[in-house]
Amino acid sequence: VSCALARILESKPILESKIAHLKEQVDFLKQKGIVPHLKIILVGNSPASQVYTRNKKIFAEKINALCEIISFQENITKEQFEKEILRQCDDPAVDGVLVQLPLPEHLSSIDLHSLVSASKDVDCFHYSNLGKLLASNDPDKFLPCTPKGILTLCQYYGIDLKGKNVVIIGRSLIVGKPLALLLTQENCTVTLCHSQTKNIREFTQNADIVVVAIGRAKYLDKTFLSPQKKTVLIDVGINAVSEKKICGDIDFEDVLPHCEAITPVPGGVGPLTILSLAENLLISAKKRSLSRDGKI
Ligand code: NAP
Repeated sequence: VSCALARILESKPILESKIAHLKEQVDFLKQKGIVPHLKIILVGNSPASQVYTRNKKIFAEKINALCEIISFQENITKEQFEKEILRQCDDPAVDGVLVQLPLPEHLSSIDLHSLVSASKDVDCFHYSNLGKLLASNDPDKFLPCTPKGILTLCQYYGIDLKGKNVVIIGRSLIVGKPLALLLTQENCTVTLCHSQTKNIREFTQNADIVVVAIGRAKYLDKTFLSPQKKTVLIDVGINAVSEKKICGDIDFEDVLPHCEAITPVPGGVGPLTILSLAENLLISAKKRSLSRDGKI
């Protein structure tokens, strides 16, 4: 049974509503002599990584923060690379340090969960920040950017989470796993599916909300949905269709008449991930300001 077309949950109005507030916070910090400053470390010249880092820089500058992209040749040695990260983390005028992934193969033995110091880890990769995610009530802790962006989206569009059955497909440490934790804290009942899950449709057909984060173009189609249910679909996937075009993990046109609401790709979760990064940067810059004033 098909019904009225779904609500499209675009990120644009969310960004518009948040940017002015973020700018105000940056300007307030600037008056106190603190300029929020992000350093992005980019290795090699992957076009996708270049686009992602550029978008992060554009957003940081939109809110009047500083963002510098530090680029290295593909063949930088492990020692040089680690030394450079340390140097950036030790700079007292830097609030956030981010390593753009993926890194080249010869750097793959580096432990990304202890590389950037916890206090500047705006991507929330560090063991101690992941631990805080599990066990800390601090409202000013770093949250992983994509899961945090999904919470922002649900809040903005009034998607009630309490008591909802949520199915997340994909169990990465940057999306699926932390999102499962955050949504559990929001009183959802979460099922985390992955490549070894049998009969994923049995889970998705009973879900109120489905999040797909696997990196398979147009994977989820209408056969994953039940005609009896009004499902909210959140598409995290970013898949290159051509040099200039991306698509999500959900077959947007196919599911549109059969769901309650859906995030588009592009223009959905992606920009909210960058918003969260800026929010984490401001958390860090505020801590710098407070510690300089001897308040923490
Ligand atoms: P990832 O590390 O690439 O891992 C993929 C996950 O999907 C794994 O848990 C894997 O299961 C699961 N998976 C793969 N194929 C599957 C299948 N056919 N059925 C069920 N599960 C399957 O994940 P990621 O880094 O989270 O990235 C996922 C996608 O999100 C990518 O397209 C990425 O570009 C995108 N992304 C977007 C944003 C954004 O801001 N919008 C941010 C981050 C990532 P196993 O664990 O069993 O291997």
